[in-house]
Amino acid sequence: MTQVLIRNCSVLVVPETGECWVDEGQDIHIEDGMITAVIPTEVPQADRRDGLEVVDATGLIAVPGLTNSHTHSPMVMMRGAAEDVSIDDWFNQKIWPMEMNLTPERVRVGARLACAEMLLAGVTTFVDHYFHADQIAEAALETGIRADLAPTFFSSTGVEGREAAFEAARQLRARGVQAANGRPPRITASLGPHAPYTVTDEDLTRTAEVARAEGFRIHLHAAETEDQTQSSKDRLGVTPIEVLERTGVLEAGSLIAHGCGILDSDLPLLERYAARTAIASCPKVYLKLAMGSTTPIKQLHAAGIPIGIGTDGAAVHNTLDVWESLRLTALTQKQREQDAEWMTISDTLRLATRGGATAAGLTNLTGALEPGRRADVALLDLSAPHNQPLHNPLAALVYSARASDVVHVLVDGTQVVEDRHLTTTNLPQILNDARALAHTLVDLSTKGAIQHYAP
Ligand SMILES: [Zn+2]
Repeated sequence: MTQVLIRNCSVLVVPETGECWVDEGQDIHIEDGMITAVIPTEVPQADRRDGLEVVDATGLIAVPGLTNSHTHSPMVMMRGAAEDVSIDDWFNQKIWPMEMNLTPERVRVGARLACAEMLLAGVTTFVDHYFHADQIAEAALETGIRADLAPTFFSSTGVEGREAAFEAARQLRARGVQAANGRPPRITASLGPHAPYTVTDEDLTRTAEVARAEGFRIHLHAAETEDQTQSSKDRLGVTPIEVLERTGVLEAGSLIAHGCGILDSDLPLLERYAARTAIASCPKVYLKLAMGSTTPIKQLHAAGIPIGIGTDGAAVHNTLDVWESLRLTALTQKQREQDAEWMTISDTLRLATRGGATAAGLTNLTGALEPGRRADVALLDLSAPHNQPLHNPLAALVYSARASDVVHVLVDGTQVVEDRHLTTTNLPQILNDARALAHTLVDLSTKGAIQHYAP
């Protein structure tokens, strides 16, 4: 048995409802990757048990490791390469032509960089949707992060492409179990149809059948903008959410990215499947691509739909920094509702922790620092000038903390970041590899595009 003690920290407590608070002077006890107790700090002699690994967290605040609820991790290789363009041009002139250049090696190099960026920022889980997902799994296993991976497909790749993506998900799931050594797997898999506007009803129906039969969830984009919803109604007579209902995707269980075009009339449908549905909101993307709206979190919350916070890919978000995402979530929700009392600091922290766990399919496993949960923990130092004086640590976490305030990170009880350095992997090598290959990915001289955006 491995035993870890995080000694003498403050602990952010995120209850299922109501206000969060901070307990001072706590020890977090961990056995075989699971939190067994969070109790007032003991006398130092208690640290001297044989084989006990102690993380001295004096002066630090422990928060549940954050979840990036929707991303395309290898797109860090395109960071800053598609700026000041419309959403149509972003897809058709930049990203989908660039993705003609994807190779397993380039995806792996990008995924390693992404995992490094997220772990150093206290992001302990990411929910990914991309190609060559086997390479992303290896990067996640190497760096020590937790991930749910959905191999992406479009209907334009035919039945063969669809079935290959399903098979990739099966193999990822098996790889996760194989690497888990009897613990809950750190790598899990979902099915990854791209979106209702790039995947036919027939393929969505088949996806839902496989999901139900084999116990997968479905991670996809839907109702990303109000324009997409209108276009779906014009073409098909139904909203994208109604497409997910009639193809069985909602019933099978799904994580829906964005949902900015969800209508009030969609809410009863989503509510019916609330136990198996979650929405991921990535507000920086909506601002940057001038999408005109954001996820209707207040309405979804009222309907009981779990919500997580994500970055989407760094080709538009530029970072995989969930602190930035949660801050923008609070700000854009207040603006959307014209209500400064909505989207409180406690509610925002709950979305990034408990909400993220549900979005990742890890409800009850991660997302809170309490006995029985996996020990995914970020320890922050809030003593820097931008957080001081510290009247309210919850306010600091939402509105002033930076990713660089994260000092130590544990995933499944293993310390993967120590004193702001990765323990599992060689960061200079990761950076060198990414710099060496980046130009090959953003090369627009390759003919064609992997898909055309016409929602
Ligand atoms: Zn996305």
